[in-house]
Amino acid sequence: MFRLNTQFKYNKKGTTILKRISILGSTGSIGTNTLDVVRKNRSALKVRALSAHSRLETLAAQIREFEPDLVALTDERGARLLKSQINLNGTRLLSGVGSLEELAVDSECDLLVSALSGAAGFLPALAAVTAGKNIAIANKEALVMGGDLIMAEAKRSGSRIFPLDSEHNAIYQLLQGCPNSADLNLIYLTASGGPFLHLPLEAFHTITPSMALSHPTWVMGKKITIDSATMMNKGLELIEARWLFDVNPDQLSVVIHPQSLIHGAIQKNDGSIVALMSPADMRVTIANILSPSQPLNRLGIEPLSLSHLGRLDFLPLDRERFPSFALAEQALAAGGTAPAVLNAANEIAVEAFLAGQLPYLRIPDIVRETLRAHSPKSASAANLILEADLWARTFAHSLL
Ligand code: NDP
Ligand code: MG
Repeated sequence: MFRLNTQFKYNKKGTTILKRISILGSTGSIGTNTLDVVRKNRSALKVRALSAHSRLETLAAQIREFEPDLVALTDERGARLLKSQINLNGTRLLSGVGSLEELAVDSECDLLVSALSGAAGFLPALAAVTAGKNIAIANKEALVMGGDLIMAEAKRSGSRIFPLDSEHNAIYQLLQGCPNSADLNLIYLTASGGPFLHLPLEAFHTITPSMALSHPTWVMGKKITIDSATMMNKGLELIEARWLFDVNPDQLSVVIHPQSLIHGAIQKNDGSIVALMSPADMRVTIANILSPSQPLNRLGIEPLSLSHLGRLDFLPLDRERFPSFALAEQALAAGGTAPAVLNAANEIAVEAFLAGQLPYLRIPDIVRETLRAHSPKSASAANLILEADLWARTFAHSLL
């Protein structure tokens, strides 16, 4: 069963009522893009809650503009500062790490958007699906760590999971035209190839954080931008797709497509390939879930025109150039807690690289060595996943 239910219950007697959206990680790239979609469609969307970690000024401006009922700040000190600096009016302020889970299960929210970066998104996503909440997930790390558990809980509770990663969102749309899973042969995830697609391998030792942060086609948060340079991002997406669409790993294929116009494709058993193209702007993906009937021009985005597209290229993925991708494939094959360990080690390595403490070429080494030292165990419960995550962070740190 690879189809996701698309029905929202927001039509009352034929009229659209406000859909209340809560955003975990509202100050980040996906968070601010989500708020822009809301901004351009105020007649259908209302912000119920927002959450931030460190960007207080951005959060304060969002509170003033969107007047949410609830705000969560994971950093307690930041919460005290915010309270002393701005007039919260009717907005209730929650603080601490547990506040994200509180927002995740809030009964007044119609759709939770998880735009957190990294492992911080795992417990809130699990809490939301366990409580039967509808959730749009950009935070792929949650699905990498515990996709099997999250999908099983969603199935049990009736929670609907909507993909906000552009590739997975494209595939999700395409699968609606392939309702019989027996007709599906292959799912293609596309990858831009990042900034180092053509850099000679001999020059890789010169890569600095600022070089790795200049992505050719997407503007995103720092962690995912580095993951896109190493192609760990595509590895994480492979694991994400395996759980979201409940397919075997051998039904997933990655292809480099530098123009980032085709976001995903499916091949049916009759050999035909159906692909989805859209402008490389995350607001298109977000609007597809939040307000599917919102015209693109309302977002100020130019629709694609086939007559002006120019060429579309497709290249195979080179695992020598992008060893992080191969490590993700191995973790997916090993199963259990291996993907959580892959993710945690990668987070530590990326943080160290961004802090100037680890050369670019050592990122996959840290992940490889951590994976090698781990014997995968069952990932059937949150505590087992979190134990593996913590172990991997400690081990990866010891390698730095
Ligand atoms: P950003 O770094 O821009 O934003 C992350 C958000 O999460 C911020 O609001 C940040 O708060 C918050 N946050 C970070 N760490 C914590 C923590 N420990 N506890 C609580 N909140 C935290 O990331 P992106 O928006 O780029 O990415 C978000 C997710 O979406 C990632 O999983 C990424 O892989 C995925 N994604 C992103 C895409 C993009 O275009 N950006 C495309 C597809 C997927 P603060 O800023 O206040 O510190
Ligand atoms: Mg993606």
